[in-house]
Amino acid sequence: MTEGGFVHLVGGGPGDPGLITVRGIRLLRRADVILYDRLVNPSLLAEAGPHAELIDVGKSPDEQDGHTQIEITALMLDRARTGATVVRLKGGDPFLFGRGGEEASALAEAGIGFDIVPGVTSALAGPAYAGIPATDRPRASAVRVLTGQGAPGVEPSPGTERETAIVLMGVKTLAHVVESLQADGWPAEAPAALIEQATTARQRTTVATLGTIADAASTIGVNAPAILICGHVVNLRERIAWLEKRPLFGCRIMVLRGETRARELISLFDEAGAEVVHVPAVSFSRPTDWSNADPKLDDLGRFHCIAFTSANGVDYFMDRLLATGRDARALFRALLAVIGPATAAALNRHGLSADLMPDRYTATALADTIAARSAPGDAVLLPRGNLADNDLPRMLQERGFVTAPITVYRTLPGPNLAERAQAAIEWGVDAIILTSPSTARNLVNALGERAAALDGISFISAGPTTSRGAEEVGLHIAVEAAAHTASGIIEATREWARGRR
Ligand code: SAH
Repeated sequence: MTEGGFVHLVGGGPGDPGLITVRGIRLLRRADVILYDRLVNPSLLAEAGPHAELIDVGKSPDEQDGHTQIEITALMLDRARTGATVVRLKGGDPFLFGRGGEEASALAEAGIGFDIVPGVTSALAGPAYAGIPATDRPRASAVRVLTGQGAPGVEPSPGTERETAIVLMGVKTLAHVVESLQADGWPAEAPAALIEQATTARQRTTVATLGTIADAASTIGVNAPAILICGHVVNLRERIAWLEKRPLFGCRIMVLRGETRARELISLFDEAGAEVVHVPAVSFSRPTDWSNADPKLDDLGRFHCIAFTSANGVDYFMDRLLATGRDARALFRALLAVIGPATAAALNRHGLSADLMPDRYTATALADTIAARSAPGDAVLLPRGNLADNDLPRMLQERGFVTAPITVYRTLPGPNLAERAQAAIEWGVDAIILTSPSTARNLVNALGERAAALDGISFISAGPTTSRGAEEVGLHIAVEAAAHTASGIIEATREWARGRR
């Protein structure tokens, strides 16, 4: 075995990023190099570590502009030989029509260590998301999974009344696939369905019979990737179909919010049936220079109020308190003010609760709320990020307070933002959620000259400050959330989706 190098052949699932395995995600987070396929959801790349090398080895169906299988294998061997931990991320399951067997053989032959992480295959997940079980007691007691691109001489075996046939890679050769199924004993009236882009926002299911499906497909314009499923189980779709019933089904939403804070938003989108492509556009780190903040921490007793305007502000402020040998008890004198519920929740996580929170989550409302509980001349400490604007300090000064803004964290572009954003745009997003001015600015900067690719995508903003920041970098906001919260953003997206239909 080569020193250290190792390849994990990982199944990335059929499209919905929630359908990768726990082990798959764990390996993605640790990989030095990720070689990913065209059918892999770009959200999964958001799991990569900040220093991972991401390589798109997507083969287009005609292998014109993409990498050939030989090139992919060579690249994989090459990276592994440098000692890297490589994740070879493949659509669906690597060993079901995924050429995983060939890649594993090449690794074995080269003496490079590898393992296989099975994935949820589109062959079963696609029908499941279309409300079609592969087997069903009265209707089908066997399943046959076939390819429409069979190597010459390999023909499907005879179908029977009580079977299900599932055909992958069968769109281009659909007429031929239908013919050979019929030659093998499938009747023309057998129920058949084509499921395109299964488990994603673009999922579309066309139901017909084996005899009519090819005509239906050409009328409707069915495109790869799609799955053909044939058998009596198809009739169950009428009763079981579920995905299409969700309010945000059909919406592919790009979420730019940074790693941890995105979680709530993503799960609410998920519940509403939207497909989320997560591309963290911001990341955070400690400041390199504390000379502006530390003297204030030495003198906390002087502040009548500490006003937090973000959950990050709370976390990094508390982190610095601990790092400098203090803890939450150092705050006992001050009133703790927060701009909104997410910031209040951050305080709670540190065993503290907010004394003041405005009804509206804006700088003006926060300044008024503080003013109502303070006297002119009182000092207000403002722990914040390096990019925070001057609105709140100015408003507090206008109300007669002494303000001390301190930088407790830095906002940086998300890791590999350019590649990730590009992959997401190619995947085809309908709307992008902007949650702060820096998400907008970083996205536009990362795309650089390719920012024209954003034309035709709608932008949904979390609130007025974000909208202003977005307009400044040339992004036009379609809908602005009434409340700067995860559910406010979902509500705004539903409003946008209603306008779209
Ligand atoms: N290893 C993959 C299959 C790769 S072959 C798996 O286990 O899913 C590629 C074929 O898979 C496509 O031509 C199509 O038939 C099917 N496929 C993959 N993803 C799909 C999706 N999201 N929707 C419909 N078909 C899909």
